[in-house]
Amino acid sequence: MRALHWFRNDLRLLDNTTIAALADRDVEWAPVFVIDPRFAGESHLPRVRFLMDCVRRLRADLERRGVSLYVAEGLPEKLIPSLMKKSGAGLLSFGEADTPSGRRRDETVVQQVERQGAEVLVLRDHTVFGPDEVLTKQGGYYAVYTPYRNAWWQHWKEAPRRGLRRVKMPAEAFEIEDRSQRSASDLLARYADLSGQKLPNGGEQAARRRLASFLDEGVRNYATDRDRPDREGTSRLSPYLRFGAISVRTCIDHALAHAEAVPAAAEGVQKWLDELVWREFYAMILATSPRVLTQNHRREYDALEWCGSDDWFEAWCEGLTGYPIVDAGMRQLRETGWMHNRVRMIVASFLTKDLLIDWRRGARYFFEALVDGDPASNNGGWQWAASTGTDAQPYFRIFNPVSQGLKFDPEGVYVRRWVPELRDVELKFLHAPWKAPAPPEGYPAPIVDHAVQRQRALDLYKRARAVSS
Ligand code: FAD
Repeated sequence: MRALHWFRNDLRLLDNTTIAALADRDVEWAPVFVIDPRFAGESHLPRVRFLMDCVRRLRADLERRGVSLYVAEGLPEKLIPSLMKKSGAGLLSFGEADTPSGRRRDETVVQQVERQGAEVLVLRDHTVFGPDEVLTKQGGYYAVYTPYRNAWWQHWKEAPRRGLRRVKMPAEAFEIEDRSQRSASDLLARYADLSGQKLPNGGEQAARRRLASFLDEGVRNYATDRDRPDREGTSRLSPYLRFGAISVRTCIDHALAHAEAVPAAAEGVQKWLDELVWREFYAMILATSPRVLTQNHRREYDALEWCGSDDWFEAWCEGLTGYPIVDAGMRQLRETGWMHNRVRMIVASFLTKDLLIDWRRGARYFFEALVDGDPASNNGGWQWAASTGTDAQPYFRIFNPVSQGLKFDPEGVYVRRWVPELRDVELKFLHAPWKAPAPPEGYPAPIVDHAVQRQRALDLYKRARAVSS
């Protein structure tokens, strides 16, 4: 039988659950990638350019194995059923979608394909466990991370889902002939990176090299270095996990093997794996409460009266707030499409609780600017910082951007790297340059007073809670 595999967020060959399952069936396969014209306006975004780089490299990897990746442009709801028909395929496979809109699109595709009499194979690949697998004793969904994490590890211990250590794919492939489409190279060339922004290389090989070097060098000190934006203390695997250039199971497997071989790394490994469980937690939250994409998870904050100005929002986006750690983070994001996790927390807290601007605006900006922009983790991170999330920091915890800078960038390496106007400022004034005897030229004074805004935020949150009770 002929089978089509529709690549989406699983842009790799190693430990690809669905492709490995195809290999167990007697099929001849053809892989397909669809460029959806509904997202044409997003082709300049870092995550889309990174995604396309992953597709280009996947195509080359497949070619080396004698398999041709068919790349086409069109609505998947029309294109996939029509390709199934044209190529005489009786089986369609793909990895389960991880967003509400993706699931809706897939339902339409499945209906059409099944109506044509073909079979559809959909398997979970993007996370280890699905939303209905890690449940409370009463059979409900967890709302708090720590008990979820404990239950998650219990599941893993009872039935670990290890990654496959070799590429498993069907032995026979066929080529899709379709003269109505432009060539794959032509279609992909449109996404060539002309922005000058330094994005990481996409693809499976780059992801595996990054995992290996992180385990060799970074993981041992991860428990402490993960909070230090001035150090290379984290894996930077997020964009690869986002688009499935590496599987989360492969990450877990290799990390556990490393902890066994190097006991001194065990603490760092455990901490790192728990971060991967945060990713699973937020994926579960989005799958079970899709409304969180646009609404507060905690309804008691629905009455929040966000009152920050558009000028403040602009200054935040541009990295011109006058608070060095905030500006360094926003400029790192602009220049590289990535920002350190601790600094994401600081800038998100600053937007919501110092500038009093709705977290949804910040989340939208991040989603567009991040190379790893992921609906579930981005939403989880923003609602955590804004205190509106399911397991968020309490509303009265408000980061002081000066003390956060002093604590997590104590030598000022990170700020000096991303904010050149501050390079010559004495370290004791670096995180509060307005206090220097001669404030640096070309760098703005703080756009707001943290102490004043902190009190305004507390009043705002208290009022919203009072309204809801
Ligand atoms: P590491 O520290 O090496 O962690 C390993 C992996 O664990 C990460 O690659 C990621 O997949 C996962 N992970 C780590 N921390 C978290 C977390 N807090 N929540 C969920 N997963 C986590 N992550 C995204 O992947 N996409 C986003 O769009 C995103 N938006 C965020 C927005 C805000 C406001 C905040 C506070 C956090 C956001 N995060 C997001 C989570 C986190 O900042 C990034 O996953 C992390 O910085 C990626 O760097 P790394 O790969 O070096 O992480």
